Amino acid sequence: MSTFTVKAFAAESTTADLKEMNIERRDTTPNDVEIDILYCGVCHSDLHTARNDWGGTMYPAVPGHEIVGRITKVGSDVSKFKVGDLAGVGCIVDSCGHCDSCKQDLEQYCLNGFTGTYNGKDKHLGGHTFGGYSQKVVVDADHVLKVPENLDLAAVAPLLCAGITTWSPLKHWNVGPGSKVAVVGLGGLGHMAIKLAKGLGAEVTLFSRTPGKTDDAKQLGADHVVISTDDTQMDSVKGKFDVIIDTVPYVHDVNPYVTTLNISGTLVLVGYLGGLEPILNTVPMILGRKSVAGSVIGGIAETQEMLDFCGEHNIVSEIEMINMQDINEAYERMLKSDVRYRFVIDMKSL
Ligand code: NAP
Ligand code: ZN
Repeated sequence: MSTFTVKAFAAESTTADLKEMNIERRDTTPNDVEIDILYCGVCHSDLHTARNDWGGTMYPAVPGHEIVGRITKVGSDVSKFKVGDLAGVGCIVDSCGHCDSCKQDLEQYCLNGFTGTYNGKDKHLGGHTFGGYSQKVVVDADHVLKVPENLDLAAVAPLLCAGITTWSPLKHWNVGPGSKVAVVGLGGLGHMAIKLAKGLGAEVTLFSRTPGKTDDAKQLGADHVVISTDDTQMDSVKGKFDVIIDTVPYVHDVNPYVTTLNISGTLVLVGYLGGLEPILNTVPMILGRKSVAGSVIGGIAETQEMLDFCGEHNIVSEIEMINMQDINEAYERMLKSDVRYRFVIDMKSL
């Protein structure tokens, strides 16, 4: 298959800084579009992948799954886009299209495994997929989103992962006017969860370890902030929430949050992957019909629904723009929870 070369930023091992390298992109096939990447958000999953926190990273790793750009080529069978259109690419660049999940627009749960935008199995070129820390990407048009024209494009990029990852559980657990929602952790996902829950009409509380984020949280739309290390504040919200979106990336005690759920409430883990410590206490779950659940990103149709909602309600991410060359420093700051609230790479810098 014919290819062309573009510049990208890649990690070559678990411990290596990301640095510039050339990668190959396929020439557009009939159902593909070629996208000139304008902006790419920096998700904590990029860092987990570059550093192999979850195991299974294939190197060189080119992260980035919050991509906004302009279409520069369309394949002969593509009718959804034309050259010059804005386009978004999130975490999924391909899925089987025929399993039970795909038939229900749940590509994120594709029973044959969706193809991740990075570190996925590249069906076209072999090897693994390379993400958005690059000049261009070629993607199957059915997995490309339309981007509302009225929004700030750099600030739209994080919607493609942080936005949909929090939107999908909010919708699945029927959040709307009158719902009481809490969000754990004010980072990329957390700040989008606040904005989207608020946009859906919920009363929103932030749980944070960081007292210095209280004013920001209120400006983002949180009605209340609870400092999770303060027992008195935690006691004051016992039995309150219908839905909690927990975005914390590392192992942490979820038991104190379960007690803040209302009867039949659900705590949805979207951040941490792995075994819980200390052990999850089932007593409040059984005696209060409470659930602890998980959720991964969202489907393509649902991502489009979220982008359209954001277009109508003028919702975008709060961003700090960086150059591609600043990515290693950005990762260090992300590890210190020092991001307000999403880094976005200006791809002109590459
Ligand atoms: P982020 O910007 O780094 O935000 C995480 C926030 O969690 C921090 O700002 C901090 O908030 C809190 N936090 C960090 N370390 C903590 C710790 N040890 N204990 C308690 N709280 C801690 O990260 P993100 O990009 O939002 O991603 C969050 C997680 O979601 C990552 O693990 C990422 O891989 C995962 N993710 C999952 C999906 C999915 O589909 N399920 C999609 C995207 C990302 P405070 O300062 O307010 O406490
Ligand atoms: Zn992500």
